[in-house]
Parts: sequence; structure tokens; C-alpha cells
Amino acid sequence: MSPTLAAGWLGVAPDHPFGLQTLPYGSFTTPDRPTEPRVGVAVGDRVLDLTAASYRLFIGRADLFSAGRLDAFLDAGDLAWAQVRSALTSWLSGDEYREALEDLLVPAAEATMHLPFTVADYVDFYASEHHASNVGRIFRPGAQALTPNWRHLPIGYHGRSGTVVLSGTPVRRPYGQSRPDPGAGPVFGPSARLDFEAELGFVVGVESITGEPVPLGRFTEHVFGVCLVNDWSARDIQAWESAPLGPFLGKSFSTTISPWVVPLAALEHARVRPPSRDTDLLPYLAESDDWGLDIEFEVSLNGHVISRPPFATTHWSPAQMLAHLTVNGASLRTGDLYASGTVSGAEPGQRGCLLELTWNGTEPLTLPDGTTRAWLADSDELVITATAAGPDGMRVGLGEARGQVDRGGRGRQRGQQGGDGQHHGERGAFQPGGERRAGAGLGPVPQPHPAGHRQAPGGQHQSRLHEQHAPVGGGRQ
Ligand code: MN
Repeated sequence: MSPTLAAGWLGVAPDHPFGLQTLPYGSFTTPDRPTEPRVGVAVGDRVLDLTAASYRLFIGRADLFSAGRLDAFLDAGDLAWAQVRSALTSWLSGDEYREALEDLLVPAAEATMHLPFTVADYVDFYASEHHASNVGRIFRPGAQALTPNWRHLPIGYHGRSGTVVLSGTPVRRPYGQSRPDPGAGPVFGPSARLDFEAELGFVVGVESITGEPVPLGRFTEHVFGVCLVNDWSARDIQAWESAPLGPFLGKSFSTTISPWVVPLAALEHARVRPPSRDTDLLPYLAESDDWGLDIEFEVSLNGHVISRPPFATTHWSPAQMLAHLTVNGASLRTGDLYASGTVSGAEPGQRGCLLELTWNGTEPLTLPDGTTRAWLADSDELVITATAAGPDGMRVGLGEARGQVDRGGRGRQRGQQGGDGQHHGERGAFQPGGERRAGAGLGPVPQPHPAGHRQAPGGQHQSRLHEQHAPVGGGRQ
């Protein structure tokens, strides 16, 4: 692709992360048609209505976009993915298409973004050696930093897909058991050690057949693209519950993804040799193609950059993760999401979570306002962005995964917390947060009831139903 292509008739600056080298897909609505989601393609500071454009210019593929989200397109397979990307590139660079498309370009600031695809299964890996080593040193001092299996297989676990939410959705501080005093019994309450994890997510397009593993060489037939992931983590809940099994309630309360899915086709120039290639592996993990990715992350807390993790140092490639995920015969479904695990580099300023950045809270960060953070505080806003190496020195943007910590708690009502309502409305361009999924609103946290206690009829249930239909952002119940 030449640099001039990036300009096109749209006049997008060559250094724009959403130039023609990127062309990511999402789902959006506009204020005039708030109940009609459409598939959008981000280009510069605008969004092309692909649902409408395909009816005008590519009727043979229009059915893939009619539902307004990516599910049918993901399922359509790599030939359709390539055809549509090729068509988009032509449309947005050739003057002859200008008349047909110009009225289908919406300013990004007017687009409300929605969850781009129906998340099927969600898996989280542990693929960064620097992250895994740091965690080992923190929790198992004196022992080997990496467990004996670590270099032989990409460790992972199955998470909770139903709580994957769009960037901009507030994350409610989770409640649970923890044991702050090792000499005493467990306590119940809001997590005191809320953390983020900066990760890269991989979106599965084409399903696979039960009993038939997906080999390394078929990675690009099944995986469509990538998004950013914040795997919010409650370290106190996690520490107490996860002996001897893996992450459970310390992770399942919320996982934020970015609104734009960047196709693998946009990452061709970012491909690098992953570190796992230097180790002896069982044949099903012995990769010959380079599917490491040169993607630079940036993590900001309340507008202040606290880390710049490099994905290129991630030990396992996404093709290896997929081969391992299916090697037992487990099948894939369209919309499966698997994430890399926390992305951390070798340097202290490259660590992808507070657990590492503050060394389990013992070395708090000092923010520009003079306050310190061992863990996330109420109202803190965490933003993960990233760009990948693109053609001709350009950068391929991945957008952002944004989330603000909400206090939650019993009796809490919408809008009580200062500034809450302003932080996720029309943020404009690619910082959207319009959609609220059922149960993702700000409301009272259900508390466990003593055995034999019956809840008043309609009590909690009714309030939750009400919550789902309440206005988003600042509306009071
Ligand atoms: Mn994680």
C-alpha cells in the first residue's frame, strides 16, 4: 500500500491511526436512528456506514452487515473478509466512489458505539514471560519465577463472556471474600485491591469442528482480528479464592473491550518472530510463521501515562494460543474471544498491571496531582490504547479500552458520584461508551442472604429490571 492511498479522497492525514491501512470494524448508531445498529468502518475521524454502503456497492455481501453487528461477517470466512477489505480500500481511495459514499460517512463524534460482536466463549491466557515472572516473584519468593510447565504450553483459563463490556462502560467495584489478615478468617466486602490488566484480544470468526484441533497453519482461517482488552482484576478476592484452582470471581465481574476490531490483514507489517521460537516445543506448538506482533500499548490512569507495554515481547503467539486452545478437541464458535494475558515488557515502565507496577502494592505510584495509588481508587479512569507497526512507517490504530471505577455498594443510586454521568456519554470519536448491556448499569450490589432468609417478593429482582431500562449516564432512579 502506498502512502498516497492513505490520503484518498477523504483527505485523511497519513499519520492518522485510522487511515486506510487500518479499516477496523465496529457497530454504531446515530442519534437520528438510535435503535438501528449498523456496521461501521472507522476512517480518519469518520465512520463509514458499511451496512448502507454494501447495499449500494456490494449487494452480494450486503446480508453480512444487515444486522448491524459483526457476527455474520465473522462467520463468513477469510475470502469474504479479504473481499470486503479490498472493496473498502478501493471505495475510500478512488474518486469514482466519492458520490456514492459521501453521505454515508458519519462524524465519529456523532456515532454511539456498541459491542461489536456477540461474545461467545472467553479465554484468557498468561502469555507474557515478563508478567508471569513478575507474578511468580511476587507470590512465590524464593521459588522458580516460572512454573515448570510455562515454557511448554500457553497457560490459560476460561473466563466469563457474559460480562464482557464495551469501552466506556463503568466498572463496578466487585464484592467478595478476601482474607486481609492471614491470621484471621475471611471477610466480605468491596475489593480493596482493584487492578487492571492491559491485554490484546483475538476475535474468532470461523467455528471449528469438535474433535478437530486447529493447527498453527490454519490460524488465519479462524481468527478475524484483534481488539484491546482490560481484564479487570480484584487481587484480594483472587488471592483468597484461587488456591488451588484458577481465577474465578476475582476476574469475572467485568472485562472491557475496545469498540473497533482491527482485522489481521491490517497487521501484516506488525508480524515479528515471537520468543517461543527459541525453545523446543511439542510439534503442535512448533511454529514456522511469525505471528508475534509489534504492537505498542499505552496505559493511562486519570490522563497520566503509567505504562507502555510492548506486545512484541509476548512469549506465545496468538496462533500458538489457538492451537493449544483446541488441541484437546475443543471446538471454536464464531465470536469466541481469547486474550493474551497481561502484556508486560522487561522494564518497570512496561508493566501491564498495578500488581507489577506497584509490586503488589508495596511501591505505590505517585500521580501528578500528588496522590498515590497502590490499587485503583473510586472514580479512577483507566485507558488502554495501542498502535501496531504499519506500512511505510504508518501506525495502525487499535483504538482504546476505557473504563471508570464506580464505587457500587448497597443503596447506591445512579449519578450520585460526581462526574460519573459525564464520563461515558458522547465522548466523540473513538472514546465511545453509549451502550449499556443488561446488568452493567450502576446499581445496588446484591448481597448474599443468610441461609433460610427469603428475599421480599419483587425486591431485588424488580430493582434490577428497573435498572436495565433506566437512562444511561447521570439519570436518577
Ligand atoms: Mn488477564
